[in-house]
Amino acid sequence: MRQILHLDLDAFFASVETLLQPELRVKPLIVAMGNPQGRGVVSTASYEARQFGVHSAMPLREAMRLCPQAIIVPPNFRVYSEYSRRVMNLLREYTPLVEQVSIDEAYVEISPDRDAAQIAREMQSRIKTEIGLDCTIAVASNKLVAKVACNAHKPHGFVVVPPGDEEEFLAPLPIEKLPGAGKVTRGKLARWNVKTIGDLARVPVEELRAEFGKVGIYLHEGAHGRDDSPIVTEGKTKSISEENTFDYDTRDPKQLVKLIEEMSAGVARALKKENFVARTIVLKLRYADFTTITRQTTLRVPTDNADEIRKLAIELLRQHWERKRAVRLIGVGAHNLLEASGTRQLEFGFVVGDLSP
Ligand SMILES: [Mg+2]
Repeated sequence: MRQILHLDLDAFFASVETLLQPELRVKPLIVAMGNPQGRGVVSTASYEARQFGVHSAMPLREAMRLCPQAIIVPPNFRVYSEYSRRVMNLLREYTPLVEQVSIDEAYVEISPDRDAAQIAREMQSRIKTEIGLDCTIAVASNKLVAKVACNAHKPHGFVVVPPGDEEEFLAPLPIEKLPGAGKVTRGKLARWNVKTIGDLARVPVEELRAEFGKVGIYLHEGAHGRDDSPIVTEGKTKSISEENTFDYDTRDPKQLVKLIEEMSAGVARALKKENFVARTIVLKLRYADFTTITRQTTLRVPTDNADEIRKLAIELLRQHWERKRAVRLIGVGAHNLLEASGTRQLEFGFVVGDLSP
């Protein structure tokens, strides 16, 4: 039986801000980009602010209407990344099987001969005493159940779903708590009057397969609390790339850029299809004499966006292509892949980081 922990830091950005400025503690706090008059958006709200109905991704203007006394601070992603790194390093003291899913979220696999619940308790208390942050941890026999259990017990939560209890644990939860049951899927599930995960578990798998194909089987398995997806550590993650050889060696920048555009779109499609985001974008050039260079740029915030990949690859071309030399082959790659789920805060991070001077 596997032992999987899902760990999620509580109101991460807001919690770091209160560490930096203790006088903000117990006050409703909103980390947000932009300003309330303009198009500001809430990145994270402290639990004090959430009591007023404020939540992530809400327009700041609306958040201020709900909670006028809230203190608003701009995000400081460099500091958040540093805290995130400290937490992930602490987890890796216990095992290398740590899969970071976003800046404040990770799966950890504990080998069957160790007491996962005790390790989880210790991690939680050390993250508090050594780093100063609260988190919620769930222990279960697979990633899916651990993730759902963690979300159901935030904040300051600790929960163990014993092996064999997975289905029973999920059954009463509303269907939107099941990863993969997005709005469109839920709309279709209304045909079977599915309100809870337990309702979904009772729909015959053949009917789900007929409606959703492969996804139907995933839904069926998930509703029964079954999931055998592995922990994906960064070292093991594959990369996605495309490359093309020209019919004739070329020095024409327009031709190179045009191919980069096509390949970037292809790489972005493949990333989305496999539910990955990439931290590193790579440009590969092979010159007419067969010397080959690869140059890369690493993002603070991972992406699966075609435009972004294209811009980064073209910038690498601009910096590194020796224009006198004809190019025989060009490639665009996405490396350092992470699972795309749970990266919403990171996407916010990108927007802010990108706009700030
Ligand atoms: Mg969190």
